[in-house]
Amino acid sequence: MNFVAGVAKCQNYEREEVERSMTLAVERAGGMPDIAPREVLVKANMLSPSEPELAVTTHPEILRAIAGEIRKTCDFPIRIADNPGYIFTDAGSLLEKTGINGITGIEGVTAGLLSDMGIRDVRRDSFRALDSARISARYLDAGFCVNAAKLKTHVETEISGCIKNIFGTADIGTRKKCHSSPSQKRLADAIVDLYSIRPPEFNVLDAVVGMEGDGPSHGQPRQVGYIVAGRNALAVDWVASAIMGYDDPLCVPLMASAAERGIGPRARTEIVLNGADWDELPVKGFKKSSGLVRAFPTFLRGFVHKLVSISPKLDKRRCLGCGICRNVCPVDAISDAPGPDGKKLPAIDRLKCVSCLCCHEMCPTGAMTAHKNLLARLAEASRF
Ligand code: SF4
Ligand code: SF4
Repeated sequence: MNFVAGVAKCQNYEREEVERSMTLAVERAGGMPDIAPREVLVKANMLSPSEPELAVTTHPEILRAIAGEIRKTCDFPIRIADNPGYIFTDAGSLLEKTGINGITGIEGVTAGLLSDMGIRDVRRDSFRALDSARISARYLDAGFCVNAAKLKTHVETEISGCIKNIFGTADIGTRKKCHSSPSQKRLADAIVDLYSIRPPEFNVLDAVVGMEGDGPSHGQPRQVGYIVAGRNALAVDWVASAIMGYDDPLCVPLMASAAERGIGPRARTEIVLNGADWDELPVKGFKKSSGLVRAFPTFLRGFVHKLVSISPKLDKRRCLGCGICRNVCPVDAISDAPGPDGKKLPAIDRLKCVSCLCCHEMCPTGAMTAHKNLLARLAEASRF
């Protein structure tokens, strides 16, 4: 089986340069496949409320150019969305800081959180590490998905490109479960399980400025100068690995797990690379992640993830008793309890609650707040 990856040089985030390079990369990847007549989802990397210059998130000009490419072929609504890292719950500041709110000039483009239409339980016999996963309904139902990833290092998974970007389609509980995996291999298998649920139809990697060092939040921005595109996320990630200087991408557990399951290429010879030669891709002196975090057993890191907790908490004064939170709760953890003046107030069954925060996101008055424990507040302050 041959996979195709399209590469185009792109030196900066000037609008014309990005648009020209995006068109070239998409063409070289063989173009986007046919789009089903429903909402088109652009799954961005919006890990944290960080300015585009920090290279933590997909650059807004890249997202704008992707929307422009989609518009050339259809006029269906385009939604740019992601679930940020689970210590960040404020959609307003996320969209503002990442510059995504400033994407204008293309009709029918909106942006928001990926979980705003609820989440769904998914089980597959083919899962290797997960029993089940809870995935954004918006992602599952999209007529077409463009995976708009950022080239970054990652202290746990070594690289963060297209396949890792799909991790953000899962709810908080599922992501925590993955991070609690007993080994790096098991974590990789869990991420590949998530990816296999609904592989995106097209993938774009923002490698204009990537992140080196100990990513995906605290590495250093590094000029790279490419946009990479392809229908197979793993083929694009092979290119990302080559850029980062991996001679054998299969030494990265994530890449090995996907290859083992036939989800991506098993060898470089299976990839048709258009627009560049493999030899010219490695960025001289690119700093991979240090491996310091990986030196700790995965279960210990998972334990830390478990200690960081955010849970819904009701502010009775602002509650209208509208029942929206009860209706969106995926595990029926909210019931009606008597409140003042005959009003019904939501009561949360803490044993059932999986902390997905759908109730918080959907509450029209902000009465269902997201309560962060001390570790979550510390992590947020340091942009963990
Ligand atoms: S959605 Fe908000 S306002 Fe409505 S019942 Fe729930 S907490 Fe109260
Ligand atoms: S009560 Fe818990 S499980 Fe239900 S929607 Fe809120 S956070 Fe999610």
